[in-house]
Amino acid sequence: MKIDPWSSSNILEEDYLRLIEEFGIETIKDLTRERFKDNKFIRRKVIFGHRDLGIIYKAIEEDKPWAVMSGIKPSGPFHLGTMTTALEIVEFQKMGAKAYYGIADIESWEDNGIPYDEAEEFAVDNMADILALGLNPDKAYIWRQSEEPLVKDVCFKVSRLVTQNMLNAIYGEKTFGLYLAALVQVGDILLPQVKEGPQPTVIPVGIDQDPHIRLTRDLTRRYYKEKKEDGQIIQEDFFLPGATYHKLLPGLDGSEKMSKRFPNSYFTFNESLDSIEKKIRGAMTGGRKNKEMQEELGGEPQKCMIYKILMYLFEEDDEKLAQDFEECIKGELLCGEHKRECVEKVLSYVKEHRKRKEKLIDKAREILKIE
Ligand code: SF4
Repeated sequence: MKIDPWSSSNILEEDYLRLIEEFGIETIKDLTRERFKDNKFIRRKVIFGHRDLGIIYKAIEEDKPWAVMSGIKPSGPFHLGTMTTALEIVEFQKMGAKAYYGIADIESWEDNGIPYDEAEEFAVDNMADILALGLNPDKAYIWRQSEEPLVKDVCFKVSRLVTQNMLNAIYGEKTFGLYLAALVQVGDILLPQVKEGPQPTVIPVGIDQDPHIRLTRDLTRRYYKEKKEDGQIIQEDFFLPGATYHKLLPGLDGSEKMSKRFPNSYFTFNESLDSIEKKIRGAMTGGRKNKEMQEELGGEPQKCMIYKILMYLFEEDDEKLAQDFEECIKGELLCGEHKRECVEKVLSYVKEHRKRKEKLIDKAREILKIE
């Protein structure tokens, strides 16, 4: 099965197991969940798989430096999907990682045709969002791909090991620009180690981004771990970048994915509160046809978008989530009532977020050096 990082492939529940097997992703076992219990995405099983989290744990235990790296393509305002990855980076930063956050403006040009100067305003807006979500800029390194020579340098260096066949096998047939953007991303992912020396790095991603992780691990192995001259290893021994994988949120309205083509499938943080409310009220639930059936059979929270957005993003309290789940399956909680509660929670979150964000716009400009 091919997964495509540029079109957020529709991945069905049963596909996750196949992906795990086919691409050698490790499932999160109880011990790992216990070790990373401070990370709400791992605790709540939103993150279902990983590569090399054990090495991260060792670094934490031994009090050695480690990094979390992620980024955003500045092609529009923050939405539910980008918020998930941004919060994941914040969670790992809170656990002690130095955060590396890349603004993927080369990718927004290659994928969406947005010139660098037009991407700047999105970049500032996105940056203010992640600061408002809790990223601590004092324990972070933030860059724009187009402005970071180290990233481009890695791209050129590793490219000599890359053939068209290899890219075709990983990504399918794409424009050369997208292949190039993938190689620039190799530079992003390796930046913590190139800049500050070998150290474990975790990249929190949606499962659709795994092709980039596999490409980077392969090139790290071949370029940074095995480079020898006269039998001597001349490169420092880099760690293979690790990763965590979350399940992609399907469309709010029941469409297969969140996409601009289906405006009711997601909301951004910049749209009107009325519109956000309307979309939540129209969201697909796991409820039954009517009240009587719901009370008799119970609902199906595992299929419900209201439950999912609360679990991923808007409910801080684990016990409340567990209680809602229980009451839903017993038919004690009804969808109308639960949607009202969800609307209240999301709107109050968004209002607070906007207040925080407004004060952080200047800081975002300063960090990105954009006037
Ligand atoms: S009661 Fe809540 S969790 Fe259950 S199906 Fe309805 S909206 Fe979803």
